[in-house]
Amino acid sequence: MAKSIVTDYRHICFFCGGPAECEHHLLFGQGIRQLAEEDGLKVPACNQCHNMGKTIGRIHDNPMAERLSKMLGQAVYESKVGSREQFRARYGKSYL
Ligand SMILES: [Zn+2]
Ligand SMILES: [Zn+2]
Repeated sequence: MAKSIVTDYRHICFFCGGPAECEHHLLFGQGIRQLAEEDGLKVPACNQCHNMGKTIGRIHDNPMAERLSKMLGQAVYESKVGSREQFRARYGKSYL
């Protein structure tokens, strides 16, 4: 399993600071999650912040939070991995 390139604090929920229970891949969807895994574009999360809390307080199924997640994923990619053109080729589109 790849290491997160977003944060070194893998036991702390990236969103609320509580104990982490799972990982959220900043880029996700059909065929995309695996790419994010390979690139380390993921963050530790608690289940409530990830996909089990109220919609307004979690990432998944919360449209603006999902969009911001992908934007952050691309921003980190561009700062640590490759260019915007490389991101677009790999992930199929640009979120920035
Ligand atoms: Zn949390
Ligand atoms: Zn997730």
